[in-house]
Amino acid sequence: MTAKDKQLQQALEELKQADLYRSRRVIDSAQGVYLQVDGKSVLNFCSNDYLGLANHPEVIKSFKEAADRYGVGSGSAHLVCGHGREHHALEEELADFTGRERALLFSTGYMANLGAIAGLMAKGDVIYEDKLNHASLLDGGLLSGAKFKRYLHNDLHNLQLKMQGQEAGQNAMIVTDGVFSMDGNVACLPDLSALAEQQGALLLVDDAHGFGVLGQSGGGIVEQCQLTQAQVPLLVGTFGKAFGTSGAFVAGSEALIETLIQKSRTYIYTTALPPAIAAATRTSLKLLQADGWRRDKLNQLIAHFRRGAEQLGLELMPSESAIQPIILGESQKAMQASAALLKQGIWVSAIRPPTVAQGSARLRITFSAAHDIEHVDQLLGALAGISQ
Ligand code: PMP
Repeated sequence: MTAKDKQLQQALEELKQADLYRSRRVIDSAQGVYLQVDGKSVLNFCSNDYLGLANHPEVIKSFKEAADRYGVGSGSAHLVCGHGREHHALEEELADFTGRERALLFSTGYMANLGAIAGLMAKGDVIYEDKLNHASLLDGGLLSGAKFKRYLHNDLHNLQLKMQGQEAGQNAMIVTDGVFSMDGNVACLPDLSALAEQQGALLLVDDAHGFGVLGQSGGGIVEQCQLTQAQVPLLVGTFGKAFGTSGAFVAGSEALIETLIQKSRTYIYTTALPPAIAAATRTSLKLLQADGWRRDKLNQLIAHFRRGAEQLGLELMPSESAIQPIILGESQKAMQASAALLKQGIWVSAIRPPTVAQGSARLRITFSAAHDIEHVDQLLGALAGISQ
């Protein structure tokens, strides 16, 4: 072992001692209500496949047909020869669906956020971010070199205070999750949008967990709150969750999107998504709009869970979304609860610092339209056992 390895090994041991060590499990099945793991079938409550589209036959069919036609790899970046017909059509359909002038594909949501923020903001500018924003939004802000200010979670008054230091004419951006990924609650978007307009700041909303789930036709938080392009100039959506595929988009005005094409390093210097993923995502986009029943069912499951959990005396977060965390406090407690559930054949992930604040480790339960009421009852039964 080299000296560096020894040093790293010691740091890894410390993580284990603090119950902060992370490990992976190998899955032998497609995403779905049940996952095959370690030779066992377990009931899955930790996937972001909110609408149950990750293994949908029509999505798979589009993927296969496009792979037959276009092969697997896209061959290069979008600005070289990787921008295919399927990518282009998906961008146009996303722009149309979101009511934005343009949409631009990115290979992951992480890259979309880095690229949109760092492509538009630079040294001398100022960025305001919610304390509970996703890591990719925070990293984008730091990468940009702009002055970086975090405001208290969903606290408009605190944001206003932070904005008082803004210089006249200074470029400013407010950045927020639409649905907060570890708490499940939604951003106070109409207020944020009004404040952004009043202060001349750009507003970026990352609706990774709301798109497809919220809004009458699945348009996410901007549809639910009826916010136009002028009110939310930069809208980010990801495909790895409700769409059941992979990748992401940023939607906004012609000028903003063209600027990202010219300036966004995570757009320019990376290989385009496989065209078959774009084709599969086009089918997901159609299903996501047409299958309103998936949202209705998901909402019924969420309501059923919340009623049952309240009856058990479990402390819930103010979340109406598919993300329903149960805060347990110390990491060890969350790890033990997750292990106890797994013993009963139920997989719920334990979320620990630094993903969440110290002392707020939790079980992060996520629901999918693929679940049935009986699955939720099974989860409630197991939670009753561990909460005693
Ligand atoms: N934004 C949020 C709010 C997320 O939760 C995630 C992923 N968990 C991302 C962005 C990153 O998306 P991707 O997985 O496509 O990189």
